[in-house]
Parts: sequence; C-alpha cells; structure tokens
Amino acid sequence: MDTKKVILTGDRPTGPLHLGHYVGSLQKRVELQHTYDTYILIADMQALTDNADNPDRVRSNILEVALDYLSAGLDPGISGIVIQSLVPELAELTMYYLNLVTVARLQRNPTVKAEMKQRDFGANVPAGFLIYPVSQAADITAFKADLVPVGEDQIPMIEQTREIVQSFNRMYGPVLVEPQALISKVRRLPGTDGQNKMSKSLGNTIFLSDPTDVVAGKVRNMYTDPRHVHAKDPGTVEGNPVFSYLEAFDPDTEEVKAMEEAYRRGGLGDVKVKSRLIEVLEAFLGPLRKRRTEFAKDPAGVMRILMEGTRKGRTAAAQTLTSVRAAMHLDY
Ligand code: ATP
Ligand code: MG
Repeated sequence: MDTKKVILTGDRPTGPLHLGHYVGSLQKRVELQHTYDTYILIADMQALTDNADNPDRVRSNILEVALDYLSAGLDPGISGIVIQSLVPELAELTMYYLNLVTVARLQRNPTVKAEMKQRDFGANVPAGFLIYPVSQAADITAFKADLVPVGEDQIPMIEQTREIVQSFNRMYGPVLVEPQALISKVRRLPGTDGQNKMSKSLGNTIFLSDPTDVVAGKVRNMYTDPRHVHAKDPGTVEGNPVFSYLEAFDPDTEEVKAMEEAYRRGGLGDVKVKSRLIEVLEAFLGPLRKRRTEFAKDPAGVMRILMEGTRKGRTAAAQTLTSVRAAMHLDY
C-alpha cells in the first residue's frame, strides 16, 4: 500500500504566476514532489468567485499557469496537475461543509476581509467569494492532504480547514485528514512598488514568463528607500523590496549581506543594487523561459498532461467522497 504523505496546493488561473508564487509555494512543491504524492490544483472555480463576468480570463490562464508549473520544474510524470471544475466531487464536498461553518466565522477570516476591501465589494460580496475558504477546505481534504505549501496569506484558510475537519470528524466519524500549512522561508514577497505583497490583483508583479527586457525595466522602476537620494547617503534595507528580492533569489548570501551593510553605511547606489538584481533574476528566469518555450510549442500536449492529472485527481477525490457519503449516511 502507498503510505506516502500527500501534498495539495494550487493557484487561481487569473493571470500568469509571479515571483511571489514561486518563493511562497511553487519552489517547495518542486522540491517535495519526489517525497510526497503531489496534487496541484488549477482553481478555476475559485477564480470565478471574483471573475464571474470574465470566464475567458480564467479559461485562457489555465494554459499559462500550466506552462508556469512545467517551466518551474513540476514533473507531470509524478505530480498530478488537476483542473478544479472537472472534479465535481469538490463542489459536492463544499456543499456538505457549508453546513459546518457559520457566516459570522467566514466574515471573520482576515485574508478574505482584506481581499474584500481591496476589491471594494462592500455588502455586494458574491456569496461564492465569501465562502471560498470552504471550497478550499474541500480541495485540501478531498485529496487527503497532509501538507499544504502556501504563502503566509493562506494561514487563515488552513486554520479554517482544520476546524471543518474537526467538526466533520466529531459529527460523522474519523474520515478526514487534518492538514498542516507549510510556510516557506520567504513568507510573503513584497511587490515592486514596495507594497507588502506581490499580487496579480495589485499589479506590482514580476511574472515568471516576463522577457529579459521587461524584467530589467520593472527592476529599474522598483521602489527603494525614498530618502536614499545620493549614493553616498545611508539607506534603509528593511522594507526595500530590491533587497527582499536579492535575499530570496541571490544564491551568494554573503555578497547580499555585504551589500546591505554598504547600503546602510552609505556609498552604495540604487543603480548598482538594481543591476545586481537584474543579473540575479536573469540567471534564475533564463532556464525557466527556455523550458517554457519548449512546452509552449505543444499546447495540445500540455492539455493532455492536464487531462491525465485531472483523471488521477478525480479518482482520489471520488474515493474520499465515498467514505464521506457513508459517514454522513448518504450512501443510499
Ligand atoms: P490574486 O491577486 O488573483 O489573488 P495572487 O497573486 O494573490 O493572485 P494566488 O493565486 O491567490 O495569487 O496565490 C497562490 C499561492 O501563492 C498561495 O499559496 C499564496 O499564498 C502564494 N502567494 C501569492 N503571492 C505571494 C507572495 N507575494 N509571497 C508569497 N506567497 C505568495
Ligand atoms: Mg490571492
């Protein structure tokens, strides 16, 4: 019997993936795919919760996200890439779980609260958006995931999932697995504008698929310490995204430390630090771009990979649903 632990995580296909996705989650998935049974969900139903009027955006980004996965090193031979809407068991499980959470509890979720504010929903929040943590709980538990590699903003979702699992198991018997969040060293990568999170919705991203000149342009325009006017002035490293990115992507940690000291002391200009970052990002993104170009030549082949992953995922989810229905006395 297969006793490997399970990883489940995913992304909303609302745009191509960016550096924040990479350090927050994707890097861990690639590292751990050999040790764990890995399922990666392209969460198109969740993407629709704030894109109901734009299904084509969701549709077209499925292939983009899949290409990002493959170029970052997810191996479709061992990791199942699953399209959420093609696994109706996930929607069914969401319906059962909705009876185990209160509206008040959903409204207290700090990440959802912040996202609702950012989207200016006010009282007109789509019900599907408010309950997306419940659908995430269904995703995680349908695959019986032990570990969920995610960025810091997802901690409240895992917490809510654990509560649902506890309620379910108490009420109906021990069927579900309680998952744990796996938070990477870089808990939250800031945006190029210095805002505290790089995010598609905030438009402050560097995409994994950005060409060399686009990356260089974005880095040159990055926010730095506004009080660091002349190279000779002492500057601040904290809250300076250029240094956050160097810390995340420059393999030469000693050199980064030395640059940070020089910047604090004064005498190191922003242009120099940014040139270093451009080089570092090019060294990281160059090989990804190459692999992406290869996979992009065969979109039908990528779709076949997704269909195969989805088939595998659906088998796993269907098994869970069989035990869930039995536990809930719905096995007519
Ligand atoms: P959207 O604005 O559409 O919500 P997003 O950029 O926030 O997009 P998600 O698809 O919500 O991206 O996030 C997917 C995964 O990537 C989650 O695990 C999330 O925690 C992680 N992630 C996203 N942005 C960052 C970031 N800046 N730093 C670290 N992790 C991140
Ligand atoms: Mg998000």
